[in-house]
Amino acid sequence: MNIHEYQAKDLLKSYGAPVAAGAIVLDADDAATAAQGLPGPLYVVKAQIHAGGRGKGHFKEAEAGEKGGVRLAKTVDDAAAQVKAMLGHTLVTKQTGDEGKVVGRVYIEDGADIDRELYLSLLVDRGTGKVAFIASTEGGMDIEEVAASTPEKILTLPIDPAGMTAEDAIKLVEALKLEGAAREDGLKLMPILYTAFVEKDMSMLEINPLIVMTDGHLRVLDAKVGFDPNASFRHPDIEQLRDESEEDPLERRASEFDLSYIKLDGNIGCMVNGAGLAMATMDIVKHYGAEPANFLDVGGGATKEKVTEAFKIITSDPGVEGILVNIFGGIMKCDVIAEGVIAAVKETGLKVPLVVRLEGTNVDAGKKIINESGLDVIAADDLDDAAKKIVAAVSK
Ligand code: ADP
Ligand code: MG
Repeated sequence: MNIHEYQAKDLLKSYGAPVAAGAIVLDADDAATAAQGLPGPLYVVKAQIHAGGRGKGHFKEAEAGEKGGVRLAKTVDDAAAQVKAMLGHTLVTKQTGDEGKVVGRVYIEDGADIDRELYLSLLVDRGTGKVAFIASTEGGMDIEEVAASTPEKILTLPIDPAGMTAEDAIKLVEALKLEGAAREDGLKLMPILYTAFVEKDMSMLEINPLIVMTDGHLRVLDAKVGFDPNASFRHPDIEQLRDESEEDPLERRASEFDLSYIKLDGNIGCMVNGAGLAMATMDIVKHYGAEPANFLDVGGGATKEKVTEAFKIITSDPGVEGILVNIFGGIMKCDVIAEGVIAAVKETGLKVPLVVRLEGTNVDAGKKIINESGLDVIAADDLDDAAKKIVAAVSK
């Protein structure tokens, strides 16, 4: 789960990180009042979407103006005008895809006098099994590009789970070539970020750029934070920051029913139980020349209602040209799956070929339900057979 830049900054500020004064605007009529509350004389107006690259992005609509999603304003009136120009319009950046994202919130922030732009992030490094800092003097730009062309300018520093040490913080401020006040700020900031990351179960925290200002101090100028969804039950405060308009509507519906669903771009909808089997199913669909339209794990103890909902989510994806149900009944019983599929098909109708492969607990009862339903279902004996059949059915 991701949150907006302004929310991430509020959160980091509560831990003591240096961020600018700012105000969030959801309604253009409030923009002037919001800007008036800031110190001035320089304002930066920033579109809030769950994607980076806003500064270099562009709006689809002409009335939003030529500039991108991060704009400088020198007066309160200009700041308000920029908010108005952006709100409700579609911002396209390198990370949004061609369709872009509609801007529903705009952040007005105190403008900073920038001396240097740095890169700093934290992530879960699966290689070492530790939280790691990534630091580089080359901030404000594409870090992937820096990694490709000048990897020596990036420090990766895994932190021992026992806790961050003073030496760790020193390594980081030295990698960022911080001196004087900025170095002092950096030595304070590093453990703050580490604590926030661990306490809030973040999966990613990216500050690009972290800046050294002309007055010699550090400031967090951009902040992108993602959280581990498996830990969300521990953080009701973070759940509240969720902006559902930023989420894929199908994924949102799936999460309401506690289904692990990830939308993909292919043509074969997959309904599977168990994450490993779901991935194997996607692999074999690809192997036979088609592309999975989604990852879906209905879980071990799914009810008929959950299966019905899962099926409806799959069929409401316009990219789906065929559906493969692959269930290995263990705790999950094949007859429950069969009933769920039948109920869903009766409710929504079946407009695409459906291949069902059932195996395991109550398989005979499951097959009987499907066979006697009168539905046009293609039965399959095993996973290989099922994948071949659904790929053949959609290529007709
Ligand atoms: P994005 O990464 O989505 O483009 P950023 O928040 O990183 O958005 O902003 C892009 C650039 O705009 C920054 O690298 C910085 O140069 C400038 N910028 C952003 N916020 C401010 C600010 N408050 N004051 C001055 N410059 C800013
Ligand atoms: Mg940025």
